[in-house]
Amino acid sequence: MDSFAPTHRTQVQRAPQRAVYDRAQIYSILDEGYICHAGFTVDGQPYVIPICYGRAGDQLYLHGSAVSRMVRALAENVDICITVTLIDGLVFARSACRHSINYRSVVVLGKARLVTDPGEKLEALRCLTNQFAPGRWEEVRKPDESELNAVSVLAVPLQEVSAKTRSGPPADAGPDDSLAVWAGVVPVWTLAGEPAGDARVPPGVTAFDIRRLTRFRHGGDI
Ligand SMILES: Cc1cc2nc3c(=O)[nH]c(=O)nc-3n(C[C@H](O)[C@H](O)[C@H](O)COP(=O)(O)OP(=O)(O)OC[C@H]3O[C@@H](n4cnc5c(N)ncnc54)[C@H](O)[C@@H]3O)c2cc1C
Repeated sequence: MDSFAPTHRTQVQRAPQRAVYDRAQIYSILDEGYICHAGFTVDGQPYVIPICYGRAGDQLYLHGSAVSRMVRALAENVDICITVTLIDGLVFARSACRHSINYRSVVVLGKARLVTDPGEKLEALRCLTNQFAPGRWEEVRKPDESELNAVSVLAVPLQEVSAKTRSGPPADAGPDDSLAVWAGVVPVWTLAGEPAGDARVPPGVTAFDIRRLTRFRHGGDI
């Protein structure tokens, strides 16, 4: 299916013209992000925890220490809400209340599943590592048995998903349009700087090429 079917929980009510359910567009937002926020409830207390993630097909993978509260809680089949947010611009309006942000955001609802199959666990770790830079997993040492035992991996199916995007100028209305106040959009992006190699990298090892970070602007681009 090319689009997610909105459910009663993922139907965007507020500003529905900004809703996106197109699978390709949603996956491109997920693939561009570096962190997600995972929301869940333990003993009636909501927690929203920022963590890394990776996507493989129709699954999001999360990982953490096998003893972390988040991993232990989510492995118990509890409800989870994951958000990924990309910021494209600061929208300065002429009026205070019309200030806004140009963004692309995704909300995923579901339940996490503890990944126990060793093959899937390795694939999930590959996907989490390659979220940093394509091909990174292929060039580094793979986890050994004790590292695999120390980490838990959770899979969240991409089934109940929505996205919302805002773009364009400020939405001042009526007499505000003629106010003598600067208004407009300041584009913002994530900038990758010059890599600072670790002192213990042996001579002769090729330095990391930031052109691999195609999702970032680079120091020389601006
Ligand atoms: C960077 C950023 C800044 C924002 N700042 C504000 C702000 O200051 N004030 C404000 O009111 N709103 C803000 N929003 C919009 C906000 O995320 C909500 O969309 C909005 O508050 C409506 O929430 P709701 O629960 O009433 O939406 P509803 O429309 O009732 O939500 C129904 C369903 O729509 C989907 N949905 C809602 N919002 C999003 C979203 N952003 N991305 C993906 N799916 C979504 C979810 O599945 C949700 O369960 C901001 C969004 C972003 C990304």
